[in-house]
Amino acid sequence: MNNANILVVEDEPDILNGLQKAFSKEGYNVDVSASGDIGLAKALTKNYDAIVLDILLPNIDGFSFVKRLREEKLTPVLMLTALDSTENKVQGLDLGADDYLTKPFDLNELKARLRVLLRQKSQNKAARIVIGNLTLDTLKRQVAKEGGTISLTNKEYFILEHLAMNQGKVVTRDELLELFIDDNDGTHSNKLDVHVSNIRKKLGRDLITTHRGAGYCIR
Ligand code: CA
Repeated sequence: MNNANILVVEDEPDILNGLQKAFSKEGYNVDVSASGDIGLAKALTKNYDAIVLDILLPNIDGFSFVKRLREEKLTPVLMLTALDSTENKVQGLDLGADDYLTKPFDLNELKARLRVLLRQKSQNKAARIVIGNLTLDTLKRQVAKEGGTISLTNKEYFILEHLAMNQGKVVTRDELLELFIDDNDGTHSNKLDVHVSNIRKKLGRDLITTHRGAGYCIR
C-alpha cells in the first residue's frame, strides 16, 4: 500500500527521526508527534492508515491513547515499547492495539509488520455497505437502490463510498479531494460539487447533506 498515511508518535528524537526517514523511503506519507496528547488529537481528526505508537510518552501514555482512539476509530496501531513484559503486551492488545514490538527493535521487522497491518486494513473494507435502501458493493464498485443497479461514474462512486464508510461524520472537502490526488486536473474543488450534485440526482436529494465551510455527510 504505497502512499499510505502513517502517524508516528514517539518522544525519543533519534527514533522518531529514524522512523520518519525509513517510512518516507517506503513511499509513505509520514506525520509525527513527540507527545501523546498532540498525537491523539491528530489521530482523532485525520484518517491515517496506520499508527506507530510508543507507550511511554509525555502527557498521555500509549495505553490511554489506544483506549481513547478505539472509542472512535479502528485505525491499525502498532505499539512500540521498552517495557518488555507479557503484562504490558497483553494490556496493549486488550485495549485494541493490533501489534506490538519491543525496543530495541529491528527496523526491517518493524517495516514488515507495518506492511502486514496496511495489507490487512485494505482487505478489511466491508464487501457491502448498506445505507437505508442503498447497497454498495465495494468489490464490484456498484450501487443498488431497492434492488436495481444505479450507474455512477468512478469519481461519484468513490465519493459515495468514502462518505458511506464514514457514515454519521462530516467528511471535509480536502479529504474528498485527496481521492482524486492522482489525476492532474486543477479544477477539482469545483468538480467536487458537481459530482455530489450528480450523486444526489441519481440517488436522492437528501442522501448527502452539505455542511457549509466543513464538508459533506451521510447520516
Ligand atoms: Ca518513550
